[in-house]
Amino acid sequence: MLIDSHSHLQFSQYEDDIDTVIERSFKNGIDYIINVGTNYEDSIKSVELADRYDNIFTSVGVHPHDSAKMSESEFNDIVELLNMKKVVAVGEIGLDYYKCYSPREVQKEIFKKFLNLAENKNIPVIIHNRAASEDIKKIIYKESNGRLIGVMHCFSGDEKFAKDMIKLGFYISFAGNITYRSFKNEEVIKSVPIERILIETDCPFLTPESKRGERNEPLNVWFVVEKIAQIKDLSFKVVERITSENACKLFGIE
Ligand SMILES: [Zn+2]
Ligand SMILES: [Zn+2]
Repeated sequence: MLIDSHSHLQFSQYEDDIDTVIERSFKNGIDYIINVGTNYEDSIKSVELADRYDNIFTSVGVHPHDSAKMSESEFNDIVELLNMKKVVAVGEIGLDYYKCYSPREVQKEIFKKFLNLAENKNIPVIIHNRAASEDIKKIIYKESNGRLIGVMHCFSGDEKFAKDMIKLGFYISFAGNITYRSFKNEEVIKSVPIERILIETDCPFLTPESKRGERNEPLNVWFVVEKIAQIKDLSFKVVERITSENACKLFGIE
């Protein structure tokens, strides 16, 4: 069994061939896809997509890039979407100080709002972090009552940050960028126990090295399995099985 725990199939890059992309994944060993919302409109699109496919689940949320654009009524509508049966997480939410498309203070405020919502509703969070590890940690320590669970997607922090997040009950997710020749963070992957690892494509972005230049898709999560198996000196089968079990546990998929 294999799960792509983070894709964006509602994006315009798949407008012309979405069903072909999805069928190709399911025919080639991908069992489930967690499709991730990034703002109000595309969270709705993602919920609609999950309604069309039994093996696609969705999250709903607002990416830090879009947090300045979110209105109060959109937030309330996202709260409503949490009642839909295929919605398994709040996300992606978080902080992005690298691109900083929304002011930091706004990002922080919206991040807190969604963290509190998720913890109150007992639903996991999918966290996006770029160049903001310290503030992410600070905010979670302050806001969480200890019941918050979730995943740090496309992990880019150091070993200490991974360890701290695992202690808080989080999973650490790796994407196709770990296959890049320029990737320097193998020690972090070695340091995270396989029982806390999730894998993802973050497609259409982060196409693995051997397919670079092409649009990414869920099928390519196999390259991430292969790389983790190699770095951690585990069999392909073990990485496939355990990371899938982890995702099922986190997102409540049976
Ligand atoms: Zn992200
Ligand atoms: Zn993403």
